[in-house]
Amino acid sequence: MHTDNTARKEDGSVVEPLNGENKNFIEMEIDKDLASGRYDHVHTRFPPEPNGYLHIGHAKSILLNYGLAKEYGGQFNLRFDDTNPTKEKSEFVEAIIDNVRWLGADFGDRIYYASDYFEEMYDIAVKIIRKGHAYVSDLSAEEMKQYRGTLTEPGREDPSRNRSVEENLDLFRRMREGEFADGEKTLRAKIDMASPNINMRDPILYRVAHLSHQRTGDRWCIYPMYDFAHPIEDGIEGITHSICTLEFEDHRPLYDWVVDEAEFPNPPRQIEFAKLYLNNIVTGKRYIKKLVEQNIVDGWDDPRIVSISGLRRRGFTPESIKRFVEMAGVSKSQAVNEYAALEYCIREDLKPKAPRMLAVLDPVRLVIDNYPEGQSEELEVPNNLENPELGSRKVTFSRELYIERDDFMAEPAPKYKRLYPGNEVRLMYAYFVTATSFETGADGRVTTVHCTYDPATRGGDAPDGRKVKGTIHWVNAADCGTVKTRLYENIVDESKGVYDPETGELNLNPHSLTEVQAKVEPALIRAKAFDRFQFIRNGFFCADVKDSAEGAPVFNRIVSLKSSFKLPVK
Ligand code: ATP
Ligand code: MG
Repeated sequence: MHTDNTARKEDGSVVEPLNGENKNFIEMEIDKDLASGRYDHVHTRFPPEPNGYLHIGHAKSILLNYGLAKEYGGQFNLRFDDTNPTKEKSEFVEAIIDNVRWLGADFGDRIYYASDYFEEMYDIAVKIIRKGHAYVSDLSAEEMKQYRGTLTEPGREDPSRNRSVEENLDLFRRMREGEFADGEKTLRAKIDMASPNINMRDPILYRVAHLSHQRTGDRWCIYPMYDFAHPIEDGIEGITHSICTLEFEDHRPLYDWVVDEAEFPNPPRQIEFAKLYLNNIVTGKRYIKKLVEQNIVDGWDDPRIVSISGLRRRGFTPESIKRFVEMAGVSKSQAVNEYAALEYCIREDLKPKAPRMLAVLDPVRLVIDNYPEGQSEELEVPNNLENPELGSRKVTFSRELYIERDDFMAEPAPKYKRLYPGNEVRLMYAYFVTATSFETGADGRVTTVHCTYDPATRGGDAPDGRKVKGTIHWVNAADCGTVKTRLYENIVDESKGVYDPETGELNLNPHSLTEVQAKVEPALIRAKAFDRFQFIRNGFFCADVKDSAEGAPVFNRIVSLKSSFKLPVK
């Protein structure tokens, strides 16, 4: 600890104030605290409850807390707020650790569990009882509700409110020792039953609950309430800025009461910001849990879910999520963000990074009747025209290819520029071809298109300068692979809203998942889990981590190429 009031980083160097107008309100508060000497460093944390998987909203909290610690040369803790054993599981702990690491929020070895502090929390409760500021109550939950009062009426005093310190100490010890049944006794703070803030009307600090905890086993049969536990966790870890979401704003006086009663030498300070909310997207744990439990989705990491594991499996990158939460900004007022903005961010990230490959999602055979049978040739194609560093590769070309079904029309619609009988188009990287005829199956659908090619147009340009209006992609039938490819839509039907306000049920979109057998160029058959590609004209795709096998990848479409999203003008 330095004795002057100068804010310093861990290495002792002075923290320079950030320059600029682009600071968010939390940074401005931190600057004030450093300038006034309230704190001489910054220490933040992300405190998930391990009762489900993290979602995109949590990513905002993680990146915000980590980002602030990094920006001010401070520290960042990952802390599990595991004080409610009923819903918590170690599976969730593992997934959360993995998600936070993946997002790049480096907590080093600073990983903590609230349950490790149960003994200290107990001691603090005892200390508060000794001061006469907490008491053991005999009221049942139902009675407690009646005594609490309403927004317009003050509460009534608990009949046990004036128990002696000795009696309270004795009862609290016996609560811990297991003498009472669940709900029979609680420990309450003695604050103010007439407070206009209901959170301050003698809130419960401890409850009796004979529950096994995934980390402390049967050691405890009393558990601290969130509002009591959280500030103590922050205080013990030396957190300076305890950043949380707006619903805790009304709890801040209680937060301050607890850190004050606990007598932490340099108490933490709570600052609230607005949750990240995505329009028409299911984010709440409660709903995701339902989808998982009813087997409507393939687990918490289903690529249609905006859990961090789901986004990752779908193919989103940490960079894209970071950019998205930065674009969303940090504010005190609730704003709605569009999923399209997230899609914009992943496109921007992958455009220069992902190789652009040939893949046909809905294949129709194309036969070049004047191309010599048995012949084939190699074409050198760029991996990414925008990024020459990605180099080039060879693809083969021969008489039989696959093209997209909708790149051919037997009878062209007005303004249709692609293949139809008599029309000439460019086969990307290859030749000009002109459709001559087509075959259909019993159902009337086109099965094969016949065409002729112009050998002089190799590489995609005509020496006589003639132009074509359409360019279509293709794969070589002789060496392409067939791979399962999944196309997604929103899991809920946007036209109806996320859920039915009457039943509370989600309005599911029956078309949220479509599986196709795509024809892909050979390099794609060797894709490994999480390899990302642009399938030319079809979008960005990622090899699925769960369902891909060696030589048999399954692709998830991350996002299509077209966007209606416009960057907000700053
Ligand atoms: P949910 O309501 O989705 O179940 P939660 O708030 O119960 O989430 P916690 O594990 O308690 O989940 O949250 C850990 C941290 O993440 C908290 O500090 C919380 O404020 C923050 N957080 C949760 N949801 C969002 C969100 N949508 N946007 C930003 N931060 C969030
Ligand atoms: Mg919560």
